Amino acid sequence: MVWSPQTQRHVAGAEIWVGVRIPGTEVPARVDVIRDALVDAGHPLVEARAHDDDALLAVHDAALVEHLRTVYSGWVDAGFLDDPGQDRVVPYVFPTAAMLGPIPPHEAAAIHARAGTYAYDTMTVLGPGTYDAARAAVDCALTAVDLVTAGEPIAYALCRPPGHHVTRSAYGGSCYLNNAAVAAEALRAAGSARVAVVDLDAHHGNGTAAIFYERDDVYYGSVHVDPGAGWFPHFVGFAAETGAGAGADRTLNVPLPPGSGDVEWLTAVGRLREALDAFRPDALVVSLGVDAAAADPESPLLVTGDGYREAGRLLAGLRLPSVVVQEGGYHLDSLGELVAAYLSGHADE
Ligand SMILES: [Zn+2]
Repeated sequence: MVWSPQTQRHVAGAEIWVGVRIPGTEVPARVDVIRDALVDAGHPLVEARAHDDDALLAVHDAALVEHLRTVYSGWVDAGFLDDPGQDRVVPYVFPTAAMLGPIPPHEAAAIHARAGTYAYDTMTVLGPGTYDAARAAVDCALTAVDLVTAGEPIAYALCRPPGHHVTRSAYGGSCYLNNAAVAAEALRAAGSARVAVVDLDAHHGNGTAAIFYERDDVYYGSVHVDPGAGWFPHFVGFAAETGAGAGADRTLNVPLPPGSGDVEWLTAVGRLREALDAFRPDALVVSLGVDAAAADPESPLLVTGDGYREAGRLLAGLRLPSVVVQEGGYHLDSLGELVAAYLSGHADE
């Protein structure tokens, strides 16, 4: 298990949802409960090593990374902590394609406007430790890639904050940098000609999907609650999205109705596995969100620990070098056991 204490430095404190400040569920204690459960299960601890930005900048615009790195200090310098009294970076206006029409936008001079250039929601607030935590999560993923590249069959990265909602140039969905996409790109750079990303998080990984949508060397497969039933990310994640251009037929979305449990979910995981039999990848990245579990407050899916263990067995059957990256999962009492269950299944095969 690769981890970093730096990943706990991001303290969202709250989410701004429909304009209301509500308590967030993506809390630093997630790291403690996962780490403790995996230590109890006998997983050795490996601290993440610092990596340069090569793989990061291969999947993200440099401007997004620079924004995340600098926006909080700009927010402080502009006086927002005192007036109007907002201690987190929260955007208020978004230069959407519909707003701009054919007019090319200028970069906003005001930092409270620039905040909306790179964010696509108001939930995903940024505080003093956010960038360092997100960057440490990237180092966790890259250290796991190093382990697998050196011959380990599987390496787990305890990434926090999660990452699969971040596109090439925009963050959201409680995510800031796309750890799974960086891992996939790093595996490509290390010599894997074809890499598959399987996303088990309860929500569609729109960021990873968008980053690789037109690529023929990275496959994206996801099982998630149907965005058409009113769930995040709402606008994408539908079965009709199968890739485009060189990436045609390299995306597979399996949306499930709310209330789906182990039977439906594992059937979907089986479909993803079958698709990979045809794609014949050289390496696998698993976006392991465990928020599809019944007790999780963030999704209406009803997957059990046994379900996660069986998903691990199914994906281990691909017999691929595997980097498992933590995504969502918010029920602190069961979160660690769910992650341990998946990893025990993946190690069993
Ligand atoms: Zn999720």
